[in-house]
Amino acid sequence: MPLATAERALLDERRPLTRAEVAAVAALPLDRLPDLVALAHRVRLAYCGPEVELESLINAKSGACPEDCAFCSQSARFETGVDVYAFLDMDEVVEAARATRAAGATQFCIVVAVRGPEERLLAKVLDGVAAVHEETGLEVACSLGLLTDEQAGRLAAAGVKRYNHNLETCREVFPSICTTHTWDDRVETARRVVDAGMELCCGGILGMGETLDQRIDFAFELAALDPCEVPVNLLDPRPGTPLGDQELLSPREALQAIALFRLVLPRTWIRLAGGRERVLGELQAMGLLAGANALIVGNYLTTIGRSPGDDHALLDALGMPVADGPGEGRFVVDGAGAHARPARPQTIPLRVE
Ligand code: SF4
Repeated sequence: MPLATAERALLDERRPLTRAEVAAVAALPLDRLPDLVALAHRVRLAYCGPEVELESLINAKSGACPEDCAFCSQSARFETGVDVYAFLDMDEVVEAARATRAAGATQFCIVVAVRGPEERLLAKVLDGVAAVHEETGLEVACSLGLLTDEQAGRLAAAGVKRYNHNLETCREVFPSICTTHTWDDRVETARRVVDAGMELCCGGILGMGETLDQRIDFAFELAALDPCEVPVNLLDPRPGTPLGDQELLSPREALQAIALFRLVLPRTWIRLAGGRERVLGELQAMGLLAGANALIVGNYLTTIGRSPGDDHALLDALGMPVADGPGEGRFVVDGAGAHARPARPQTIPLRVE
């Protein structure tokens, strides 16, 4: 019954679900997971189409972050053995962008481990954005932490298409994960991104001890910000961090959460990110049949991902074409390699760009 109500609301009436309707779906036993997954997939196809968008990251400045996010191996407060380096040379940034394009991704995200960018770092990032635009034509996203209005405006003026700033978890759980800044600080930056005219990429990490109910809260809190994209990381506990001994989500819990996120965020690009290999294991493909429609390809910030070739093989096997992304991507990869994409097929009836 809760699934039928959700299906009618999303697919026939084209209205968002209420918190109570989502809670009723979440209360179904995990034995009903195949039905939930099937509904999430239908919703994804109806709102977003069959395509899967690929993005690569570069960790352009690693480690030594003054913040204390309990899941993060890049915090200077924890002994994690992570690489520590200042902003990469421009050549390395451009080389990584070329590799991204060769791997079939349309988005290249420059990530730095900081609370927020100080002037010298921001200037380097802006140089990097210009170089990647010029050398590869890729769309560039950035993830530089907390921003001021002025910084958000400068990034937008430099042509940064999208800014990633995750809420990480729901409002209620956040204070147990981070004490050096607040959840509201994060929301403020998310709003600044939108006000400056960039697309907002805003998600978080599941499996940090939150309850199922809190996971649903989180999905609704994200929906309130109307992000273009929601990255869903599945906690892969990092040795040396306070969450280093956290129990992994089970694959079925993870799939349930992905599917519930799709029901709450029907139009949003839901990107499977860090932890998908370790948590989903054999059920890797199911993530893309449970409502997700985007992937990080290659490595993550501090952990190794799958090879892009494996992910392309997975998409082929699933019959899911590579998308040109939420923005106006320009490249597609097929048997002939990466080349300019023709006009995008109109498979996204309700997506608001
Ligand atoms: S998540 Fe970001 S802000 Fe938090 S410690 Fe890691 S790099 Fe710093």
